[in-house]
Amino acid sequence: MSGGPGLAVVTGASGGIGAAVARRLSAVGHPVLVMARRSRALAELGLDDVVVAGVDVREHDAVRAAVEEAVERYGPVQILVNNAGVMSLGNVATQDLDEWRTTFDVNLLASVALTRLVLSSMLGRGCGTVVFVSSIAARQVFGHHAAYCASKAATHALADATRLEAAPAGVRVVEVAPGYVATDLIASTSDGALRSDYRAQVDVALDPDAVAATVEWACSLPAEVCVREVHVAHARQP
Ligand code: NDP
Repeated sequence: MSGGPGLAVVTGASGGIGAAVARRLSAVGHPVLVMARRSRALAELGLDDVVVAGVDVREHDAVRAAVEEAVERYGPVQILVNNAGVMSLGNVATQDLDEWRTTFDVNLLASVALTRLVLSSMLGRGCGTVVFVSSIAARQVFGHHAAYCASKAATHALADATRLEAAPAGVRVVEVAPGYVATDLIASTSDGALRSDYRAQVDVALDPDAVAATVEWACSLPAEVCVREVHVAHARQP
């Protein structure tokens, strides 16, 4: 195997932040496994050295098969970016439990399952970087965001717990917590009034590529430097 940049795995790469991360990591030479349900959007990224996996991250067997195929082709995973997410707004008193389940299945449990798939190999090799895309909503609660905030607070704890286990082996765990980013994440909210209110209320938002640049920066630092947690928001976001 060559000594060049190793395999990067990016979930939720069919749009928004994940697509920008995949483009950036590919541009600096990483072969990339991109995952999301919309495989056409993944293919349209037009990346070199890519494995496109049109999978639902809740389908753990399909995710495992995609990782095995990419590892077979490009060698062990050097970077994992747990980015796929949904934001299903609603109130504690009324939001359907199925929306809570989907939120936790996608935002949290899919990251646990995928991290479990790659972590043993990273620990054995004594290198690798696992990135969790959380949110400022991990630390700050917003109206109608109970399920989302709870899932992101859990992601924050998951990142810290993973780092505790991984750091002695030299495996880096990075949490990137963005503020508002100009994507269509709100499309995953079923309540039309909440979707409209949200769109009306967000007036400054980062370009997804600014978040991708942060991820790329953290991954490109010398192996002994771990950026544990970065909060990145538009300079004009209060
Ligand atoms: P997008 O909606 O643009 O991207 C979400 C991505 O997740 C899509 O590629 C989508 O792909 C994928 N995804 C959703 N559900 C599934 C699923 N079941 N299986 C596989 N992939 C799935 O939003 P963002 O780029 O904004 O979101 C990326 C991450 O950034 C999320 O974790 C989000 O919480 C976080 N974030 C976003 C902020 C913002 O303001 N936009 C702020 C802070 C954090 P597909 O639909 O093709 O499956």
